[in-house]
Amino acid sequence: MQYASTRGHAPQQTFSQILLGGLASDGGLFLPTTYPQVSGEELNAWRGLSYADLAFEILKKFATDIPEADLREITRKTYTADVYKNARAGEDAAQITPLRTLENNAERHLVLQALSNGPTLAFKDMAMQLLGNLFEYALAKEQAELNIFGATSGDTGSAAEYAMRGKRGIRVFMLSPHQKMSAFQTAQMFSLQDPNILNIAVQGVFDDCQDLVKAVSNDLEFKQQQKIGTVNSINWARVVAQVVYYFRGYLSATTDNTQKVSFTVPSGNFGNICAGHIARMMGLPIDQLVVATNENDVLDEFFRTGIYRVRASAETWHTTSPSMDISKASNFERFIFDLLDRDAERVRKLFAQVESRGGFDLSGGEGSDGDEFGKVAAFGFVSGKSVHADRINTIRQVQANYGITVDTHTADGIKVALEHAKPGVPMIVLETALPAKFNETIREALGRDAERPAGFENIEALPQRFVVMPADVQAMKDYIRQHTGL
Ligand SMILES: *Cc1c(COP(=O)(O)O)cnc(C)c1O
Repeated sequence: MQYASTRGHAPQQTFSQILLGGLASDGGLFLPTTYPQVSGEELNAWRGLSYADLAFEILKKFATDIPEADLREITRKTYTADVYKNARAGEDAAQITPLRTLENNAERHLVLQALSNGPTLAFKDMAMQLLGNLFEYALAKEQAELNIFGATSGDTGSAAEYAMRGKRGIRVFMLSPHQKMSAFQTAQMFSLQDPNILNIAVQGVFDDCQDLVKAVSNDLEFKQQQKIGTVNSINWARVVAQVVYYFRGYLSATTDNTQKVSFTVPSGNFGNICAGHIARMMGLPIDQLVVATNENDVLDEFFRTGIYRVRASAETWHTTSPSMDISKASNFERFIFDLLDRDAERVRKLFAQVESRGGFDLSGGEGSDGDEFGKVAAFGFVSGKSVHADRINTIRQVQANYGITVDTHTADGIKVALEHAKPGVPMIVLETALPAKFNETIREALGRDAERPAGFENIEALPQRFVVMPADVQAMKDYIRQHTGL
């Protein structure tokens, strides 16, 4: 299988070639030249598979240049009950992403799929754990090394660190804004004592961290010499790893392949729901893909109006579902590519316009850039938005009605899911984090602390390992050089 850029001006690559990279050389994102198809018989045959073996069946369609025996070993090593052990009481950890029916009656069939039972209690572990094992495998083959350099406001950085800790040939340099993350998130990252994990607390805000990563990455010579790589949300292997749980959710909520389900996805960078779109393009019988946003409603605006308008930093709100606080959805271009019938020239123009004029308009109205908004429904997409008051209200309602505490992002999902649920079609809401990660808002909603999985009770008291640095590019480069010895 070959991968091509959404902007059409980069050479095609294989899965292994794009594994360690980010953007294509023309600034686009990689997608397979065609989506592999899954037949109804194949789907039914997958019903009895373990999560690891289902992941193998799906991944082998995309990673055609990795020997199947190796791939099976990697998926079996990744998706184990021991890694995804933070399941709630009553959930079976061995299912990796257990489903829980919240309500099933004439009006609606509402289901929660737990994606956050991994080491950092957020769904990013689902893909990052696989990435860690794939990286280690690829680097060992070439006897190469890789220095991952990234910025985080919380979930991504910790997922990357827990996936890469102790891995041969890999070092992680992770920037975070000094004293701006929650105590829990800080403790999760900084308590890691592995020598290959380097936490850098930057004197500044998240944007400063991101600017530093950009500045260092734009120095191509430094990047090459220091073997710098990224694990950000556009990484193709991350997206494809996420395709698997849509299949798992479908198979667990249905009994035969004539049935459909819908998914609601708490969304930020459009990485998670992009995987749902790909699952649907592969033939998975998905009725609706519901995009749920918070106050930062770039995506909701597009799916209601056809207008994509990225926000400036001053217009990006800091909310109580912080992992969805984005001004610009980095994976969105993959969907637009399909929406425009894979017309790379038009994608190139539209995303150049995002840079120059802050967006584009596909509403078909006067002066718009196209009328493809009319085709959005044919791809199953709808959307909705949830704000702080909705979040608090939903956390309370879900606790009262179903006896379970959900986190703030999942609450946004449930709020929007209820607006779109149809009788007879299971509506699966993806649970993207456990509530312990966002305890302050749980206290506000319920007047008590969120339960913590075993082993996390005293995490804030553990010794922490990190350095504080100014937001200075040269100082950052010196620090990296010192630690890589390259
Ligand atoms: C990252 C994240 C999201 C947003 O996912 P995207 O793939 O960026 O759309 C939602 N909820 C939680 C808890 C997250 O960590």
